[in-house]
Amino acid sequence: MGSLFQDRACTCPELHVGLDSPTPQQPFRLLVLGGGYGGLSVALNLQDLCRGQAPRCGPAPEEGAPVVERPRFEVEIVIVDERDGFFHTIGAPLALASEDFASKFWIRYDEIPALRSPNIRVLHGSVKSVDPERKVATYLPYAGTEEKQLEYDFLVAATGLRRAWPAVPQSLRRKQYLFEMGDHLRSMTGRKKGVVVVVGGGAVGIELASELKTLHPHLHVILAHSRSQLLSNEPLPDEVKERALELCRDAGLEVLLNHRLERSEPVKGEAGKVTGAVEVVFTNGKTIVADRVVMAVSRSSPNTGFLPREAVDEEGFVKVQGSLRFSPSTIPNSTHHYAIGDIALWSGIKRCGAAMHMGYYAAHNIHQTMQQIVHGKQEEELLELKEIPPMIGLAVGKQAVAYWPENGMIYGEKVLKDFFGEDLGFTICWNHMRLGEEGK
Ligand SMILES: Cc1cc2nc3c(=O)[nH]c(=O)nc-3n(C[C@H](O)[C@H](O)[C@H](O)COP(=O)(O)OP(=O)(O)OC[C@H]3O[C@@H](n4cnc5c(N)ncnc54)[C@H](O)[C@@H]3O)c2cc1C
Repeated sequence: MGSLFQDRACTCPELHVGLDSPTPQQPFRLLVLGGGYGGLSVALNLQDLCRGQAPRCGPAPEEGAPVVERPRFEVEIVIVDERDGFFHTIGAPLALASEDFASKFWIRYDEIPALRSPNIRVLHGSVKSVDPERKVATYLPYAGTEEKQLEYDFLVAATGLRRAWPAVPQSLRRKQYLFEMGDHLRSMTGRKKGVVVVVGGGAVGIELASELKTLHPHLHVILAHSRSQLLSNEPLPDEVKERALELCRDAGLEVLLNHRLERSEPVKGEAGKVTGAVEVVFTNGKTIVADRVVMAVSRSSPNTGFLPREAVDEEGFVKVQGSLRFSPSTIPNSTHHYAIGDIALWSGIKRCGAAMHMGYYAAHNIHQTMQQIVHGKQEEELLELKEIPPMIGLAVGKQAVAYWPENGMIYGEKVLKDFFGEDLGFTICWNHMRLGEEGK
C-alpha cells in the first residue's frame, strides 16, 4: 500500500475524490499510540469526519435535522500497539474464567473489518519516544532490534495503564495469549472442590472472583479485602459499596472484610515436598489453605514513559486541557498533541466509555484544526470535556450494580443485561465503534 507515513504523497488515488481542496499539507498524518478503546475510537471517528460523514461515536442526528456538511480531507492514520490485536479489557474477568470468551475478546487488528481501509495501518510494536517539537515518534517493532521513526502531523496518545497479571493478560500476540489464559484456567478449575482466594476487593477483584464462581460453581471462591468495605478506594457512596457486597454474596462468594494479606506460601508435605496447596496468612491471624491465590491488588500506572517529563504529572498521567490537547505550557506544538483514555489526567473513575468518548472529542478537534489549516477557518469550534463525576458499572455474577450522580444507584439482573449484555460489554463496545463494518 505504499508509504503510509514514509512521505507525504498520498498513495491512495481514491482518497482524492470529492475532496474540498487538495492542498500541499495533505494527506494529514495522524499517529495513534495504542489501539485500545480510545485509540480505535479516535482513528475511526476521524476517518468518518474526513470522509464528510457523521462521527460514529458522536450524538445520533435528530430526526428531521438538516444534514451537516463536513469538509473532507485526506488523512493517513497509523496506529502503533504492543499487542497484535484489540483486547476487550473490561471482559478480562470473563476471559480468565472461560476459554470461549478468551478467544472472542482478542481480535487481531488484521481481522477487524473497520480497520481494513487503504488509509489505516496498524504497526505491531512498542512506542519508545516522542519528540513533539520535531513531531517525530520512535517505536520498536515487535521482535525487532532496531527502533524506527514516524513523522506525524497530529499525535494522539492512548496507551492506557500498565496493569499486572491477572487483571489483564501480559502476552503481546493472540496465540501466546490463548495459552496464557488456558493455563491459568486449568490451574484454577482442575481440582474438583478447589478453594480459590482472590485478594483485593476493588472492581477488578470483585469481577474476577464473581465470574469465576458463576462459571465454575463447584469452586469455593473467597474474596479477601483489607478494609471494612469493598471498593474502599473508589469515591462512591456507601450504598454502592454495600450493594456490591450483597451482590458478591448473592453470587456465592465468601467475602472476608478486614483481612489484610500478610503472606502466602506453598504448603509442604512429607519430606518437605510441595503439595500444590498454598497457605494464605492474614495479619489478623486467620489462615486459609487454598488451591490457588489470585492477587488483584496491584496499582496500575500510566504507560507514558515515552513522553517528555514535562508533559506528565508525578504519577505519569498526561496533563491535558478540556480539548484533550496537551497543556500548552508542557510541550511545543501542543495543539497537535492529544492524550485520551486512562492516561489523561482527568476527573472520574477510569472507564472504557470515557476513553471512547474522548476519542470522539479528539477526532472532532483535530478535524477543526484541519479546517483552520486548509480553509483558514478563523475560530476552531472545539469540544471541551467537562468534569466527570465518579460513576461505575460493576458486573457481579448474574447481576450488576451501576451508579451515576443524576440517577443514583440501580442494580439487579436487568442492569447486567443493559450495561454489559451477555458478554461483559464486548458486543456493546464492538457495535459502538462499528468495528464489524468494513472500512473500505
Ligand atoms: C479487569 C478490568 C475490568 C474493567 N471493567 C470495566 C468496566 O466494567 N467498565 C468500564 O468502563 N471500564 C472498565 N475497566 C477499565 C477500562 O478497561 C479502561 O478504562 C479502558 O481500557 C481504557 O481504555 P484506553 O484506550 O485508555 O486504554 P487500553 O484499553 O488499556 O488500551 C491501551 C492500548 O495501548 C497499548 N500500549 C500500551 N503501551 C504501549 C506502548 N508503549 N506502545 C504501543 N502500544 C502500547 C496496549 O497494548 C493497549 O492495546 C476495567 C479494567 C480492568 C483491568
